[in-house]
Amino acid sequence: MNKTQLKKIKKTILKKEILVFDQLTKKQKTELFKFSESYKNFLNQSKTEREAARQIVQIATAKGFVDIDTLLTKKPKNSQKVYKIFQGRCVALAILGKETLVSGANIIASHIDSPRLDLKQNPVYEDLSIGLMKTHYYGGIRKYHWLAVPLALHGTIITSHNETIDITIGEDPDDPVFTVTDLLPHLAGKTQANKKLSEVFEGEKLNLIAGSIPLGNDEEKNRFKLGVLNLLYEKYGFTEEDFISAEIEAVPAEKARDVGFDRSMIGSYGQDDRICAYTSLEAILDTQHPNKTAIALFFDKEEIGSEGSSGAKSNFLEDFMSDLLFIKGQNTDNRCLRKALINSSCLSADVNAAMDPDFKDVHEAMNAAKLGFGICMTKFTGVGGKSGSSDASAEFVGKIRQMFNKNKIVWQTGELGKIDQGGGGTVAKFLAKSGMNVLDCGPAILSMHSPFEVSSKADVFMTHLGYKAFYSDNG
Ligand code: MN
Ligand code: MN
Repeated sequence: MNKTQLKKIKKTILKKEILVFDQLTKKQKTELFKFSESYKNFLNQSKTEREAARQIVQIATAKGFVDIDTLLTKKPKNSQKVYKIFQGRCVALAILGKETLVSGANIIASHIDSPRLDLKQNPVYEDLSIGLMKTHYYGGIRKYHWLAVPLALHGTIITSHNETIDITIGEDPDDPVFTVTDLLPHLAGKTQANKKLSEVFEGEKLNLIAGSIPLGNDEEKNRFKLGVLNLLYEKYGFTEEDFISAEIEAVPAEKARDVGFDRSMIGSYGQDDRICAYTSLEAILDTQHPNKTAIALFFDKEEIGSEGSSGAKSNFLEDFMSDLLFIKGQNTDNRCLRKALINSSCLSADVNAAMDPDFKDVHEAMNAAKLGFGICMTKFTGVGGKSGSSDASAEFVGKIRQMFNKNKIVWQTGELGKIDQGGGGTVAKFLAKSGMNVLDCGPAILSMHSPFEVSSKADVFMTHLGYKAFYSDNG
């Protein structure tokens, strides 16, 4: 066999790995950097699930999406665009397709909650003349990430008079911030050096510094706690008891930044999974007159197991789907709803772990995702022997792969870490329960679940293009 023949055979039989930056046209590169700017802006405005939900509805409304409830009594237009926001914490968007809904929809499902420190329901106390607030971490955090960094408070408080107060403190450069202290290295030896990492940092020690000017003279008991509570009352109008009915989240008080001399990457809190929320949002906004109904779902509570009425285990999608059947004038009985669901195709839009140059040994290089190599298809997730995974069918993976190839989408495949190294899951299995085809599909990032997750702008852009192709071309 000569060299030319060998080259030809290799070209035919070997899988190609494509770096997105190698394939992009000059025009696409310009678009990519522009897209990244609006993505960073979205990240900065959406640091909690409530803020993300609000942003998504605001952006969609500006592009002609209307509250689905307003259409329950009037006829929708062709390619009608609708939204539903539930409990202020999860959102669905849809564009009605030309086909009947019973033949299924194209669904992209992401999540808009991220790991953070939630304030406890009785948070404020004092110790050693410092006013402090107790937190309870939410989702899978590395506790040490949250020490000695500036944190902002974002939240919603329902007062005893049933008023709603929204607060954001720490994002404006003039705002104060909050912080959890860390032990100085000089004194860490005896207490920490010989402990296991999992034992060094305790959840009950993730307390926020909140003030140090007392209220009243030194005969007053708890006057530093009083000082904090008094400021909250004067400035925001809520009392200690109001914390009971509040959701206040401490998140990194930093903005999304470009990373690297070439500005090719983005570093930010909350990219898991607002990277998929934003790219799918922009994909549905770009979709015109789809054949199949296009749906974008933005769930809450993924980081704590998709529980609760705003998480993917709830009936939110079923409810939205039956509203869609109703406004489309189709039969809404249980059988039709089930058919609409079972005939749907879904991309479970979540991040995968990119292989880290400093932690290569937790990955299996042949099957790990890499930064800059495009949108990542993850056939299965899970722990150990694929436990807890929904495992997409070969047929569905095949269909998406062909659709991506046809649309020149740069894709890769990735498994979350080496076998028995750990693992994780997504919303995929909760959607798959209704019988629809579901495939995990999203970009791979570095430092996942840290306050500064790193993504490649090329992957962000390619994910957006991939989702767009799915809405317009998944027949
Ligand atoms: Mn995620
Ligand atoms: Mn996560």
